[in-house]
Amino acid sequence: MSRLVMKFGGTSVGDVDRIRRVARIVAAERKPGRGLAVVVSAMSGETDKLVKLARDAGGALADQGAQFDDEYDVVVSTGEQVTTGLLALALRAQGIPARSWQNWQVPIVSDAAHAKARVDSIDEAKLGAAIDSGEVAVLPGFQGVTAGQRITTLGRGGSDTSAVAVAAALGAERCDIYTDVDGVYTTDPRIVAKARRLEKISYEEMLEMASLGAKVLQTRSVELAMAQRVPVRVLSSFVEPGVDNPGTLVCGEEEIVEKQIVSGVAYSRDEAKVSLLGIADSPGVAAQIFGRLADANINVDMIVQSVARTEGRQNIVFTCPDRDAPRAKDALLALGEAIQLEDIAIRRDVAKVSVIGIGMRSQVGVARTMFSALAGKGINIEAISTSEIKISVLIDAQYTELAVRALHSAYGLDAA
Ligand code: ASP
Ligand code: MG
Repeated sequence: MSRLVMKFGGTSVGDVDRIRRVARIVAAERKPGRGLAVVVSAMSGETDKLVKLARDAGGALADQGAQFDDEYDVVVSTGEQVTTGLLALALRAQGIPARSWQNWQVPIVSDAAHAKARVDSIDEAKLGAAIDSGEVAVLPGFQGVTAGQRITTLGRGGSDTSAVAVAAALGAERCDIYTDVDGVYTTDPRIVAKARRLEKISYEEMLEMASLGAKVLQTRSVELAMAQRVPVRVLSSFVEPGVDNPGTLVCGEEEIVEKQIVSGVAYSRDEAKVSLLGIADSPGVAAQIFGRLADANINVDMIVQSVARTEGRQNIVFTCPDRDAPRAKDALLALGEAIQLEDIAIRRDVAKVSVIGIGMRSQVGVARTMFSALAGKGINIEAISTSEIKISVLIDAQYTELAVRALHSAYGLDAA
């Protein structure tokens, strides 16, 4: 007996016609000896509506630092429930045995961190037996239930994580994530017409891509897939079954024979650069600065430290999400005396451009190619950060597209 998990996102189930097509895609994957579980998102736009309703009714706003109310999850989890019933009906209309399972019926147990819960355990016994008997199980993504029987949600985009968690619990051969793109690309095809669909990408590379703003999969779902070694395939839900639709396989790097030096170029415009000028150059200063930012829940990314012109002084430059820049400034001004801050400057029109590839580990000259490609276009680099499989630079946001295109061709990624 083998098992397969299929997941369909919001646009893929955006209306009843699309749900019927999803039913045809599911039907085509049914074969003797294979159990199917299908995880669905809310129809596109529904979760946004539900969030607004919950807010209007007085729900706490997490973006204002408040704790989410558990009733918020009762409201926003319902979008997915609707889709499970609709898809089960559409499958039955095609003569396929199917039923919906709400998370408390499985159950899929999560912690009690409402609106950002994590899955703790999935009891696969009943669910597994049902799909092994040939009945398609349709599950809502995004939902969980606490040990105390309260409904939770897993954070926006959480259906990907639900699907991977279900696949891991069922010991599925693979988790197929159907979406509105036909795979993972070497870069954003809206910027680079010569972007190519990747046949395979490693979990590590996908994690970097996802956290850098290539929003194909929720980052957490990739972390989970990597930890549980679940192969994930990203493919299009907009083609009828039978039409060629290979997608991109996200898998362990041992399965990738030809390791690219650079597999992809990612960018993010949601960046701000904060420069702290002429601060005290003594032990504990950085700890105070970044401690204060952590207390304010500000996620710091690149950090550059350098000596200042005046003796005993240094500069620290860091980046953070653009929307957090004003709060970062307030938090640091409050520290002013303690770190002897002379001046603080914030630039919000910056972008981060990154090249990612597991082949980088064993290859020299990768950074040189990047810096000369940017220099060739006259683009100034304001900060650099690296990891084992990634080099990121901070640049003026107006050159984002130019930089992405230049790097895409410099690393030989352009399609013929
Ligand atoms: N419906 C939820 C959202 O819009 C979860 C998901 O689709 O992944 O965020
Ligand atoms: Mg999604």
